[in-house]
Amino acid sequence: MKAIVNGRVLLPDSEVKGKALLYDQRIIGLIDPDAAKAQADEIIDAQGAYVAPGLVDVHIHGYNGVDVSDNDPDDIRKMAHGLLANGVTSFLPTTLTVAWETLESVCRHIRGLMEESLSPDFNGAQIAGMHMEGPFINPGKKGAQNEAYILRPDADKVLPFRDVIKVITFAPEMPGGLEFTRRLRQETNIALSIGHTSANFDQAMDAIHAGVMRSTHTFNAMTPLMHRDPGVVGAALNTDIYTELIPDTFHVNKGIFPMMARLKGNKLVLITDALRSAGMPDGEYENGGQVFVLKGIECRLKDGTIAGSVLKLNQGVRNLRDYGYIPLYAAVRAASLNAAESAHLEDRKGSLAPGKDADIILMDEDCNVLRTIVRGVCKYTK
Ligand SMILES: [Zn+2]
Repeated sequence: MKAIVNGRVLLPDSEVKGKALLYDQRIIGLIDPDAAKAQADEIIDAQGAYVAPGLVDVHIHGYNGVDVSDNDPDDIRKMAHGLLANGVTSFLPTTLTVAWETLESVCRHIRGLMEESLSPDFNGAQIAGMHMEGPFINPGKKGAQNEAYILRPDADKVLPFRDVIKVITFAPEMPGGLEFTRRLRQETNIALSIGHTSANFDQAMDAIHAGVMRSTHTFNAMTPLMHRDPGVVGAALNTDIYTELIPDTFHVNKGIFPMMARLKGNKLVLITDALRSAGMPDGEYENGGQVFVLKGIECRLKDGTIAGSVLKLNQGVRNLRDYGYIPLYAAVRAASLNAAESAHLEDRKGSLAPGKDADIILMDEDCNVLRTIVRGVCKYTK
């Protein structure tokens, strides 16, 4: 048993001082520090740092030069390792719209990595499944996705991989989209996410009633909120679905953050949507067969279309706290418990509740990560 003392512990709805966090592979609980010292065989002194649940990135394509859609399992291992420094303890490698055969191959790799990453010796964050973004999207809102590989929604293609795919982003207004929604809702536990969509408000509401329970990078690549035409954004804000947000201040202006925090509360989900250029210098990169340019925090295709981000999730937490005017525990929650719930991972992930995996991070005041613990094993120290 191990214990963390002298920390400011971030629970989903509060910050707690003067308690020790006791854990082995799972969280045991918050107890009196003297009792913890008597029971634990290893004591970590947090020296006043925040003790938070490990962050859960449910939408991330690449990091440190590699991309999930390149279909090489070593790339995903490299991501898993690199993300530890950002406080990410579990994530869903996310595919782009590429050839279906490639997606099937990535699914099979991730199936193996889900098992492999449970080992205490695995040198990275846990791979908790996969987010499939596309290919069942609307060409009219393809964003930086490659139109050549877009397909019509087809549940039969997805069903063989229902054990691997935790989230699927699709456009329910495409032919067969509602049937796809109903079947996957009935036959799988996959979290259905509306995104890269031209649905109008009514179509989006129909999809939500049929089983869509989250929205993908809300505001980006979907119909906007207009007062006579509320669009997918209007449906996402009017209902209690989970809403992803890229909190890099570029994809969505920071003036939107307080509104999202107020309207969505515990349904707001921070993601990075990071590309291979995240963690890398400015320059030209490639994305699902398309060239894009990174300059500062902006990734764009040659025609100016905005691509994914270079955000680190701990920076996103800081941005939401600072520009959303909410306490740190609430910003952390958006990148941990809310994120886990939005992908049906909350039985083991997302908070420091007893019985959950001991995924724990220590952070300073600026959300710099000092230590990352995955299922009770310290895998990163600054
Ligand atoms: Zn994405």
